[in-house]
Amino acid sequence: MTAPAAHGRRCGRFAPSPTGPLHFGSLVAAVASHADARARHAQWRVRIEDVDVPRTVAGAEEDIVATLARHGMVADGSIVRQSARTAHYERAVAALAARGATYECACTRAELALASAVDPASGERVYPGTCRDGVPAGHAARTARATRVRVGTATIAFEDRVQGHVEQALATDAGDFVVRRSDGLYAYQLAVVVDDGAERVTDIVRGADLIASTPRQIHLQRLLGLPEPTYLHVPVAITASGEKLSKQTGASALGRDALASLAAAWAFLGQPALPAADSVDAFWAVAPGAWDPTRIPRTYAAPAPRGLA
Ligand code: GLU
Repeated sequence: MTAPAAHGRRCGRFAPSPTGPLHFGSLVAAVASHADARARHAQWRVRIEDVDVPRTVAGAEEDIVATLARHGMVADGSIVRQSARTAHYERAVAALAARGATYECACTRAELALASAVDPASGERVYPGTCRDGVPAGHAARTARATRVRVGTATIAFEDRVQGHVEQALATDAGDFVVRRSDGLYAYQLAVVVDDGAERVTDIVRGADLIASTPRQIHLQRLLGLPEPTYLHVPVAITASGEKLSKQTGASALGRDALASLAAAWAFLGQPALPAADSVDAFWAVAPGAWDPTRIPRTYAAPAPRGLA
């Protein structure tokens, strides 16, 4: 049974991309967001972030939802899929355009690679603004157009519940960024903001690999008049050689021992051992009461335990 979305109620969420089975790194984000929501008597929602349709792997969504359930985590309310929400993204981009916050960009990938500086902190390309005042002559005949949002001179700061004060000058750290891609798909940065707003998410708990995206998302929230959630970024699990766990690094899917995986994720989050938790249900009976975000390591990345990388 789902509690009604009472006004003013807190809400957390887990928002996996269905590109493969859950691995230890995504389990850590799921456990942290679930424990935090339950500790705050908040709703906990699951959203399948399949906005990048070509990256979606058939069967991954079902696999993720079943793995979450096996680890004792079941969403409140129905699961939202980004692939069904295009009309909402379209309206949001139209609203941004109506206030002059966007422009069409005709740059090709090759031009972007040549012209963009790379931000040393994030490794991301910072758009140099080629099309900001209109597509330059010679580009105009091209049909494929991305839509970018202007960042102007905005400096965005927020207080992360674990990582502390985070601040970004968007112009130098991100640049005008894409909200609708040249292939017509909406960008993650836009979709996540529209969806968190629509679901009235108040508490975002996720991996620290997304911390550099957060100022861009706050910028969009402000332009769209959406409330700003709280943020808590947990360390990302990395391999012994320092790579983020992912399908690309061959991260192993979670094994059958759900309780052992939960305990490993809990320890990775710096939380005290739960001796009474001798089953998955018993784990979730005690974990929210023991959840202490001040014990989460204040680092962006930490090695996954042996056997789970
Ligand atoms: N879909 C993103 C991912 O799987 C997470 C987005 C978010 O939590 O905001 O990395």
